[in-house]
Amino acid sequence: KGPDPDVEFIRAKLSNVKHKILVLSGKGGVGKSTFSSQLSLSLARSDASEVGLLDIDICGPSVPKMMGLEGEEVHQSNNGWSPVYVQDNLGVMSIGFMLPNPDDAVVWRGPRKNALIKQFLRDVDWGELDYLIVDSPPGTSDEHISLAQYLSLSDVDGAIIVTTPQEVSIIDVKKEINFCKKVGIRVIGVVENMSYLAMPLTEMRIQDPSDPGRDLTDKFSEFLRSENLENCVACAQVFPPTKGGAEKMAQDMQVPFLGKIPLDTKVAMAAENGESILEKGPGAAYNAYKEIVTVVA
Ligand code: ADP
Repeated sequence: KGPDPDVEFIRAKLSNVKHKILVLSGKGGVGKSTFSSQLSLSLARSDASEVGLLDIDICGPSVPKMMGLEGEEVHQSNNGWSPVYVQDNLGVMSIGFMLPNPDDAVVWRGPRKNALIKQFLRDVDWGELDYLIVDSPPGTSDEHISLAQYLSLSDVDGAIIVTTPQEVSIIDVKKEINFCKKVGIRVIGVVENMSYLAMPLTEMRIQDPSDPGRDLTDKFSEFLRSENLENCVACAQVFPPTKGGAEKMAQDMQVPFLGKIPLDTKVAMAAENGESILEKGPGAAYNAYKEIVTVVA
């Protein structure tokens, strides 16, 4: 069997993209798509780079919503599919744009998913790109194998793996790291998302534990005012890292650790509304993203 012309074509086409970064996670629901979206927004914002975000989480495409592009459609041009643009230097491609109804389930077998990924890699007209961020499905499935097949892995910068501090998520991250090692993808680093809860004290609802119906929020607000604590944030370990969390795991697996992003209403709101956390003003999540983007860029 000779070389697959599509593979040759894709590799040649994407060789013009300066940086290609895969975003992976062992499990769903750990914030991988949120991270991919925020990373893309941050890169496009921080140094006016040309950024493309490719969502190949085919069964659960959440990127259109997270980028504020719900209801948008992909158009065909002479040069292929045009991405949907958030702003001049940030284009997005997702199967979410192609579903007539966003609530429709995508129930596809491997070959069909594989064909779509190939089409995405081959036919999207990104123009000049500094960064191509690929939001991949959780785990190590058909889609990852397709990606590994089509992308010239030596030409990919590598993968960022997102996890929560919980052991259930971290176990699967180890598998993800081993997958990367096996297929020759460099691990750029591990990000621990939802590391702790960062919540403005003024947004906390305070209850009496022995009488849950008794709301002490007003009393607490009064206390905050009297002590000048209104701008402070409460940090709480929601998912205790029983075995040292992602940082320890990264150390053990000898891959870089990129940082801890808190569970933060600002992140949740940014993801709901297609905004960048960097527009939401300083805070723990803002600082974490700033630091991670500096390392990645
Ligand atoms: P995944 O892509 O891993 O399945 P998502 O990115 O869809 O996960 O995130 C799952 C949910 O968690 C989303 O509703 C998102 O808004 C929320 N979320 C993710 N990260 C954070 C965070 N750091 N703070 C608050 N909410 C978050």
